[in-house]
Amino acid sequence: MSAKLLDGKGISKEIQKETKVKVEQFIADHGESPVLAAVLVGDDPASQVYVRNKERACARAGIESQLHRLPATSTTEDILAKVVELNEDSQVNGILVQLPLPDQADSRVILDAIDPQKDVDAFHPHNVGLISQGRPQFLPCTPHGIVQMLKRCGIETTGKSVCVIGRSDIVGKPMAMMLGQKDSDLGPEMANATVTLCHSRTQNLASITQQADILIAAIGRPNFVTPDMIKPGAVVVDVGINRTEQGLVGDVDFDSGKEVAGFITPVPGGVGPLTVTMLLENTLMAAIIQIKSIA
Ligand code: NDP
Repeated sequence: MSAKLLDGKGISKEIQKETKVKVEQFIADHGESPVLAAVLVGDDPASQVYVRNKERACARAGIESQLHRLPATSTTEDILAKVVELNEDSQVNGILVQLPLPDQADSRVILDAIDPQKDVDAFHPHNVGLISQGRPQFLPCTPHGIVQMLKRCGIETTGKSVCVIGRSDIVGKPMAMMLGQKDSDLGPEMANATVTLCHSRTQNLASITQQADILIAAIGRPNFVTPDMIKPGAVVVDVGINRTEQGLVGDVDFDSGKEVAGFITPVPGGVGPLTVTMLLENTLMAAIIQIKSIA
């Protein structure tokens, strides 16, 4: 058996086209583009690539982007000062602080300082609280992209057994929260899953993953998920991005995994492009929220 590919890249293009139309309408209605401000601290090569990709995607969608570079030696206070400046700048709709920050900077303090209405990554406790109550203002980009992909591929989650491996605040935890809700912005069929959230202390991990109709791996370990961990015919979503001597690989052993799964995302070209795409949607959303709060 060979799994069908879940084409995150193609779906991203489709969503970006839709976003572009909505942005054009926003500009026609309000006379200005939504603005995303990215804060990049230091010169980590991977972060530079991520920020550049986000800038290019903004340009394609008609969203204006600003890049605020700070030196690698920046303290928590230095970065906070930049965040406060961007919070107060009425031209800026969305603020993104590219992670990871250098060790001396306290990421939590900095992310907590972002105005919740400009928090396009949805990391602020206010936004996390709203997500947990099932009434989100913004959804975090990676889990939101995954739900969009599943919906557009005709894969519903209601009543399904979902296993999420990884409990980070960025991917695993919000993913589990979203799929376990009663409803979603895409309808109840894209929520209502029975979710098991696994992590490094989970005992007998394979016995849990083998039960999953939908298996989502967000671990950060190359080729960690092997075919024996996959239920035959399951939907396998690989969030992992691991740089190895063989190039970029996911958390799932793709070549053998695709022989067991029913659907599978490739790496690269799967979840990654969706993450950037949903950032554009959140920036537009932020601009709309801010216009409404002024009116
Ligand atoms: P984190 O490092 O924050 O979290 C990793 C999670 O995996 C932790 O919860 C950890 O458990 C769990 N874990 C680690 N080892 C095991 C194990 N042996 N068995 C079970 N669980 C384990 O990672 P992120 O969520 O930030 O990222 C995960 C991966 O996704 C990375 O490769 C990252 O690059 C990628 N990523 C991709 C994105 C995309 O757009 N495609 C976006 C964001 C991330 P514990 O909590 O117990 O330590």
